[in-house]
Amino acid sequence: MSLDSIDRVAVLGAGNMGHGITEVTAMAGYDVTMRDIKDEFIEDGYESIKWSVEKLEEKEMLEDSAEEVLGRIDTTTDLEEAVADADLVIEAAPEDLDLKHDIFTDLEEYTSGDTLLATNTSSLPISDIAEAVDSSERVLGLHFFNPPVKMDLVEVIYGEDTSDEAAEAGYEWVESIDKTPIYVRKDVRGFVVNTIVGPFGGEPAFMVSNDEATIREADATMVHERGYPMGPFELGDLTGIDVGYHVRKEGDSPIPPITEEKVEAGDLGQKTGKGFYDYEDGDGADYEPEDAGDFDWLRVEARMINRAAFLVGEDVATPEEVDTGVQLGLGFPEGICRRADKIGLDTVLEKLETLYEETGEDRFEPHPYLEQLVAEGKTGEEAGAGFYSYDDDSLGPYHDLNYALEDGVLSVELDRPSRMNALSDDLLAEIDDLFSNVDTDEVRCATIEGAGDQAFCAGADVSGFSDADPTDLMDVTPAFETVNDFERPVLAKIDGFCLGGGLELALACDLRVATERSSFGAPEINLGLIPGGGGTQRLTRVLGETRAKELVFRGNHIDADRAEEWGLINRSVEREDFDDTVSEFVDDLAGGPPIALKIAKKVMNEGEDASIAAAVAMESQGFGLLSSTEDVLEGTAAFAEDREPEFEGK
Ligand code: NAD
Repeated sequence: MSLDSIDRVAVLGAGNMGHGITEVTAMAGYDVTMRDIKDEFIEDGYESIKWSVEKLEEKEMLEDSAEEVLGRIDTTTDLEEAVADADLVIEAAPEDLDLKHDIFTDLEEYTSGDTLLATNTSSLPISDIAEAVDSSERVLGLHFFNPPVKMDLVEVIYGEDTSDEAAEAGYEWVESIDKTPIYVRKDVRGFVVNTIVGPFGGEPAFMVSNDEATIREADATMVHERGYPMGPFELGDLTGIDVGYHVRKEGDSPIPPITEEKVEAGDLGQKTGKGFYDYEDGDGADYEPEDAGDFDWLRVEARMINRAAFLVGEDVATPEEVDTGVQLGLGFPEGICRRADKIGLDTVLEKLETLYEETGEDRFEPHPYLEQLVAEGKTGEEAGAGFYSYDDDSLGPYHDLNYALEDGVLSVELDRPSRMNALSDDLLAEIDDLFSNVDTDEVRCATIEGAGDQAFCAGADVSGFSDADPTDLMDVTPAFETVNDFERPVLAKIDGFCLGGGLELALACDLRVATERSSFGAPEINLGLIPGGGGTQRLTRVLGETRAKELVFRGNHIDADRAEEWGLINRSVEREDFDDTVSEFVDDLAGGPPIALKIAKKVMNEGEDASIAAAVAMESQGFGLLSSTEDVLEGTAAFAEDREPEFEGK
């Protein structure tokens, strides 16, 4: 059982999840059969796929044509036909253990012994589902998030019997469809993501039930002060208050009285027109930033962190996996383990201990792993270790950034696709760290791009602004200067939005190549701000005052063709030509003479701010310096011999 042996995939169920999983599987190039029990369900699912891939094609977000993608999808109501040749089966039928047992019993009969059998269940134990199958070592959970086409995360879950071979094959397959897998090494209720999100909704509901907070106060604080994409009550209304209620009931967890009342009254959220907010006669989730008051956010985060301590302490997942899970699965602004290390684990533990003492409620009982970390002095970032270790001049591990150094090319990826790669403080610190500490002798050029298919970088993460001290905001981030001053040429690979702080980062690079669909802008003015990462200055230097002021004052976007015409970018190319164009640039930069490129960058950057006489003097000095290098000898010899030079940077 290995990834190499997975060619054909079968998806059971054409509902919300089944059709979405079928779509992403076909988009990744696999042949896939989608099975449901009635033709009309299949037709509905297929129509949804068709609509979605055509939309993606229109937005140039599809690698192949919509027709090719649809051509890879077969449909049937016959289970045997669907799975007989499949190498991987993903079950996405309704959440009912008996039904899933029946399906897996049939799968044992109709599939060969090495077909990988996966379930997309959200809340049933994988081990319970696997009971229906003798060869239960090949059964695993592949938990996609809704909607699969947009959500990058897939939890790869071990049941009690799942073999490493099966889990690894599932993990690699998820990577092969361009999603991000995380292992869930034990079959715990809620897996990773739902384990953490429980207290996010639950604790504020207890607090409101006890008159310790109001709904608006809780939502406003969590969104505007703590950076979550939605307030806990707003989220409850969106997912359905009954959903959380049933999860708690099945897990024998205490149910907050306010949740019970809403379910009894049939006020289940947006779907019934009324929940914690009123969507019919009211304005829905209408909390404002000013509603944030004295809400005790630490009580909520401490409980989530306690759950993270459980997951890490019991070897269910690593801190990195927990953090990837909550960022990609829930859109949290940063990992919960990372946040815990910033708050201080001693502070978190104290909060839990106090609440446990005061209330006697089990949900506040600190997990032994949290106690252990604090006892060992690992209280977080300030102490040098917590969930993570922090090392002064380390090149990571990074949480929001990926990089690779191969053949002299430092490829950097901003990795916050769920936030359109927006620049958080952490991400900026990581960019600064990487470009400050990487060994420049090993690098000939660098590229920066954004993860996901929407943005290079859509700006600064504004969710962090409202609770930031204005004097903090006035400190210009060193990251842009570090990129600007990096001794090697840096190329921005822009595909999608390049806005605000993202534009400033691109401007700190030396060269910019973009796809035609990309758009550029400095929208800060619309927030009552101005570009704060060098944008006002670099834009003026790159574009001239007239055009720079248009971008900064009006806050509008311009498209890639106009950006090319204005000289904001070097090339605007069709998406299919993007990689080739970038490679042509990179080949020239990586194969060029390193010392001459370094000096050219330096005198051009610094010369801009000097008088012409001083700048020319700087250039002469650089020229003189270069004349004694081996690279010059190699360059002139290669020219005379009519061959490609091989520069070594000496
Ligand atoms: P759904 O009700 O939208 O779709 C289920 C589909 O399965 C229906 O079309 C139904 O006709 C079909 N079906 C019933 N019996 C079948 C059988 N024997 N073989 C094949 N198909 C059959 O449900 P959904 O939201 O897509 O959820 C499916 C699974 O995914 C559940 O286990 C759920 O817990 C899980 N899940 C759901 C979400 C979500 O947000 N909806 C997220 C992650 C996981």
